[in-house]
Amino acid sequence: APRTGRICRRVAMSSSSESHFDYLVIGGGSGGIASARRAATYGAKVAVVERGALGGTCVNVGCVPKKVMWNAAHITEVLHDAALYQYRGDLESTARDNYVTRLNGIYGRNLDNSEVTKLVGTASFDGATAGLEGAEHCITSDGFFELEELPASVAVVGAGYIAVEMAGILNALGAETSLLIRGDLALRSFDDLLSTTLDAEMKRQGMTVVPQTTVASVALDEETGLKTVVSTDGVEVGKFEQVLIATGRRPLTEPLCHDRPGVYALGDVCGNVELTPMAIAAGRRLADRLFGGMPLAKADYDNVPTVVFSHPTIGTIGLTEAQARDRYGDDDVAVYKSTFVNLWYGPMPIEPADKPKTAMKLVCVGPEEKVVGLHVIGMGADEMLQGFGVAMKMGATKADFDSCVAIHPTAAEEFVTLP
Ligand code: FAD
Ligand code: NDP
Repeated sequence: APRTGRICRRVAMSSSSESHFDYLVIGGGSGGIASARRAATYGAKVAVVERGALGGTCVNVGCVPKKVMWNAAHITEVLHDAALYQYRGDLESTARDNYVTRLNGIYGRNLDNSEVTKLVGTASFDGATAGLEGAEHCITSDGFFELEELPASVAVVGAGYIAVEMAGILNALGAETSLLIRGDLALRSFDDLLSTTLDAEMKRQGMTVVPQTTVASVALDEETGLKTVVSTDGVEVGKFEQVLIATGRRPLTEPLCHDRPGVYALGDVCGNVELTPMAIAAGRRLADRLFGGMPLAKADYDNVPTVVFSHPTIGTIGLTEAQARDRYGDDDVAVYKSTFVNLWYGPMPIEPADKPKTAMKLVCVGPEEKVVGLHVIGMGADEMLQGFGVAMKMGATKADFDSCVAIHPTAAEEFVTLP
């Protein structure tokens, strides 16, 4: 069994009469709780040390409250669309915080049911800021969830998942939103069909996208409460009521005894596919390996489906077109794509050019045209992806896609009818 680390043991002894465990998990987040509970099913004596609320990033300041806010933004969009359908309805409160508190309780009871001890300890992870002057005047994604009122104007700095998700929510809810990015496009490491379509959609929705802009400083005007953002070129980008920094998250692992034998790391702290289900999978595989008699149990990091809750949503699995061309060469890569308007917008009295677009791409390799990349942006992309993830795990080819009868009328059917 793994040995407890120095810091871990100190926390345990100061917090509980019990001080010896087969498996001491630091962090009651997605990965930690999954791993602890799986180890407990094998009869291991397990404890979880958590300094804050159970459930970690995902439940408290990540996926869950973000999805609730995304839903609220989506309702706003649907209400907007409803006017075009001559539908009238009321916007209800999302009761977000009550929901999160309920989830904290469920996580706690799940640990109790698995007979995993809960310990309170000290944390060392934090959100990263860009190291810019005046960062104390800005918020991170954690601060976003503490906002009590919608700011009239917001600058969101960054170009990744969190930046586009939070900018999209703020914009849809009615804040005047500017997205400040260092390069030309947000999500530039994603397939180019996704990043270019998202760029056009964000602009169509009224967001200001400011490319080629690295923020140097944020200065607070005490009188107006406005924050002046200046770029590294010395250009004043604008004055905003709120500035949200979303330039990447960094685990602060220094105080932890990570270089000792018997100490393992999993989830976001490893920096490899920072997603809740990935942390859960890795946590369970580690417990299987250590306590379940499965010495070869390892998480599989290939073809992990992921969704960005942008407006509209993005779903992506596997290689981008550029990655496939690099790896296999142009001659071995075939690409199928389609851009269309979702039927949802069909009846609306809007110019066709102004209607939101859905875009899809399949990246295939070899003579058998194995699907190695699947990318979609558009309404419903989030709910579309899971089944295609299974198909790709099974090694599906373009012919397999084509042999599946379409479900009509849906947007997903386009994936099995690409010419
Ligand atoms: P965490 O959930 O961060 O858990 C780590 C826990 O360890 C924390 O509770 C912390 O308090 C505790 N801890 C740390 N150090 C110590 C210590 N020394 N002592 C005691 N306790 C300690 N992923 C998705 O799949 N889908 C999404 O839609 C999604 N949206 C996100 C939105 C936002 C705004 C953010 C920030 C993240 C989002 N993610 C999403 C990512 C997801 O939240 C993480 O990948 C996931 O929570 C990682 O789980 P984990 O167990 O590795 O870490
Ligand atoms: P990301 O790694 O996704 O994106 C951060 C981006 O910010 C970089 O790609 C970079 O883009 C840009 N950036 C970095 N430094 C600077 C800087 N100094 N100034 C301006 N821009 C900068 O990190 P996030 O914090 O958005 O999210 C962390 C992780 O959490 C994600 O990778 C994802 O795994 C997970 N997550 C998942 C979600 C989901 O599943 N829906 C939602 C939210 C988070 P560039 O190089 O183009 O400038």
